[in-house]
Amino acid sequence: MSLLPYDQRDGVIWYNGEFVPWKDAKIHILTHGLHYASCVFEGQRIYDKKIFKLEEHTERLINSARLLGFALPYTADEINTACNEVVKRQNLIDGYVRPLAWRGSEMMGVSAQQNSIHMAIAAWEWGAYFDRTELLKGIRLTMSEWRRPAPDTSPCQSKAAGLYMICTLSKHEAEMKGYADALMLDYRGQVAEATGANIFFVKDGALHTPTPDCFLNGITRRTVIGLAQAHGIEVIERAIFPDELEGFEQCFLTGSAAEVTPVSEIGPTRFEVGAITKTLFEDYTNLVRGRLT
Ligand code: PMP
Repeated sequence: MSLLPYDQRDGVIWYNGEFVPWKDAKIHILTHGLHYASCVFEGQRIYDKKIFKLEEHTERLINSARLLGFALPYTADEINTACNEVVKRQNLIDGYVRPLAWRGSEMMGVSAQQNSIHMAIAAWEWGAYFDRTELLKGIRLTMSEWRRPAPDTSPCQSKAAGLYMICTLSKHEAEMKGYADALMLDYRGQVAEATGANIFFVKDGALHTPTPDCFLNGITRRTVIGLAQAHGIEVIERAIFPDELEGFEQCFLTGSAAEVTPVSEIGPTRFEVGAITKTLFEDYTNLVRGRLT
């Protein structure tokens, strides 16, 4: 990974409807989005110059803002066009797009009724989310101390910056212990997701995945469910408890950044990178590259 900080790169960033030089895309220190986390974002990959599932990501961005009580000042079409233009101007073949929207500076307190809404889109070249050498042998997860909050304690279907506070804490703790990521349980003690990706398990030829009732129903998650069903693999969405982990044979994560990432271990429980995981890994790779319809 490049050591060049993200605010020191070259190129352009779409900022409130205009392209500005990368290093000039700044916010003022007194910005509501920074102090009170009134900020939502997206993350989508570019494969062969094309943004995968762009429309779905834009739709989620608009909905994330709505769940935080604000409306984006751009239509879905305008946002899609802007994302595509950013990719073109950045000359990207394979990379990542990060659109975000936040409340500005008109009011500085919990209340922000008068605040203007700002939006930016940046894109850069980006490889695998997890270490490539680890990818096919599976990554190691530990259990997080933090739990996904209940739907009545957070706008959990919003991809809101504030909801990542506990993800960063969990991921740092995992990395300090030598793991790649952490598995978070939810407020009921059920298996929820990793810090930036959904989770699947394989048992007796079927896929098991937690019902997304207090975390994001990921776009990749839904895509992979479709791929599995196309193979005739049964997909069971249900409550999964941590004491079931040792009964599963395979495990993998899904996410726009993580793609399909095999998991070899959660805490002391081991998994094999088996045939279903490999098939879905390959299918997803083919689909994003337009080699599978
Ligand atoms: N959960 C969390 C916490 C995430 O950050 C992500 C990545 N956006 C996902 C799940 C997976 O979502 P998607 O497949 O839409 O990228």
